[in-house]
Amino acid sequence: MVTVRAAVPMETRDGVPPREASRSSEQSATPPATANAAARHTALAEELAGAGRWEQAYQHLRTAVRLLHGQPVPDELDRLRREHAEAREQSLRDSLTASYNRRYLDERLVALLDDPLCRGTAGISVALVDVDHFKQVNDTYGHPFGDRVLQRLVTELDAELPDSAFCARYGGEEFALVLPGHDLLDAVRICEAARHRIDRHPWQELDADLRVTVSIGVAHTSGSVTGLERLVGMADALLYGAKHSGRNAVAYQDEHNGSVRLAGPAGGRRSIRRRRIRTGTRL
Ligand code: GH3
Ligand code: MG
Ligand code: MG
Repeated sequence: MVTVRAAVPMETRDGVPPREASRSSEQSATPPATANAAARHTALAEELAGAGRWEQAYQHLRTAVRLLHGQPVPDELDRLRREHAEAREQSLRDSLTASYNRRYLDERLVALLDDPLCRGTAGISVALVDVDHFKQVNDTYGHPFGDRVLQRLVTELDAELPDSAFCARYGGEEFALVLPGHDLLDAVRICEAARHRIDRHPWQELDADLRVTVSIGVAHTSGSVTGLERLVGMADALLYGAKHSGRNAVAYQDEHNGSVRLAGPAGGRRSIRRRRIRTGTRL
């Protein structure tokens, strides 16, 4: 918890500054009205910081410092700015894997989808990644071991993402990769590389018999798929397709004929089960 304080002049119980202090700083004494205003801004800053509204808290604190000192005190403001940035960053991270959390994912996706500049001409791709048979990992090795697997998994998911892309924990052992400015085939290539890295990861460092794979569904903002719910619903339905085609695969929808395909070596597999997505569209 960050404590927010501006240096309000010390007062005695009846509101009069102590003699010593007022005599020695007569030239620079703060008028009572200004000190009161500063105190009000400081109190507001405390309240806002307590509610996690850091940006507004910071504005009030800056006003308080200006009132008292005539100009910002650089050290204090720098420290507050740093602490605010750290607190904000922490509130957007998942504590187990340090990937972004669901809150960040939802906020960013809404912003990206609303902004034509972010979508660019290539659009935005979203992939849902789910660990294959992860319950078995927990059942065999225990939950804390499963946690370590998730941490390594995120390192691999993050390893070669393009600058504009990010990985977020969608929930449980599911993660989302968001790729702004990447068309579908580009995104499929990036996801297939991530799937391959996870398949080839030296899991035997954790246990000689351990093998971990993931299934991925990749959706893209093209044609009628523009809204957040529809995009994620599409990725989820494709993930289902990857699971039911034998797992350890990346599924996507062919933009020309609408059929569901698997990337890379899994592309040779024959049957891909279809599922109606929540929005009513059949893949
Ligand atoms: P599938 O291939 O169909 O996805 O099978 P699965 O076993 O991965 O699927 P299921 O949904 O049955 O199991 C997911 C498991 O993930 C169950 C849950 O306990 C585990 N899990 C979710 N979050 C965490 C976590 O933070 N840590 C650990 N260790 N396990 C988790
Ligand atoms: Mg799951
Ligand atoms: Mg799973």
